[in-house]
Amino acid sequence: MTATHAPKPTYNRLPQGESHQLLSAVLERCTRNRRTSTAAVLLDLDGTLIDNRPRTCAIFHTMARDFSSDPRPKFRDVSAVLAAVTVEQLAYLASDSLKRLGIGDAEILDEMKRFWVPRFFSDEFLDHDRPHAGAVEFVKGCYEAGATVVYFTGRDLPNMGVGTFRSLRDLGFPIASPGVELVMKPNAAMSDEAFKSGVCASLARTGDVIAGFDNEPANCNVMLQTFADADVFLVDTDHVPGAPQLNASVRVIGDFKRELS
Ligand SMILES: [Mg+2]
Repeated sequence: MTATHAPKPTYNRLPQGESHQLLSAVLERCTRNRRTSTAAVLLDLDGTLIDNRPRTCAIFHTMARDFSSDPRPKFRDVSAVLAAVTVEQLAYLASDSLKRLGIGDAEILDEMKRFWVPRFFSDEFLDHDRPHAGAVEFVKGCYEAGATVVYFTGRDLPNMGVGTFRSLRDLGFPIASPGVELVMKPNAAMSDEAFKSGVCASLARTGDVIAGFDNEPANCNVMLQTFADADVFLVDTDHVPGAPQLNASVRVIGDFKRELS
């Protein structure tokens, strides 16, 4: 909780026009593929299709209510700061977010971690998640173009399976239809990276993988190594501190919009 992290590297995002073109090209590739086989598009959830920062905000706001009646004055003192937190103030790691807010007391940080972790990695607060710009429309476009939509997420099935299904449905993403797969970690103890690198090659059974999207450089690199002909995109939101260098063939986009807004 006390370690400091190097800032996220700056990526060269494609100019908007080029990003729009490449996303449209993915849809065209899905349609073209239809004649010979089924295309598959791999899509990460958190930080890629979905902005999960409102989930952390809601957890911090709940924590603020708990702390406001705590007998220890220093906990009551931070409750107002937590109650006012906004998505713009959040870092990738909750512990770094709290430091940004000026909360550095080790006892408070430990208690916050105990509060945040089981709630963030559960169904409980998933209804606060929001889709990234253009994400729902893009995934629907892939589906309507005949591709298998594969949600390939580091969320775990036991704790987040039901909530993830409900969230995808409520946000308007394709789900529970022929040609939609939800691929999740079998248990929370496994690292996301180990899970994705171990399972990636088996996703060939969902179709001819023509594109992949993730916010983590490590996962983008794995998709490209596994499916050399796929167009792989880093969605430049935020990622784990200390991530490996991004393969130079991975395209970097800011969102899923296909038109100027
Ligand atoms: Mg992610």
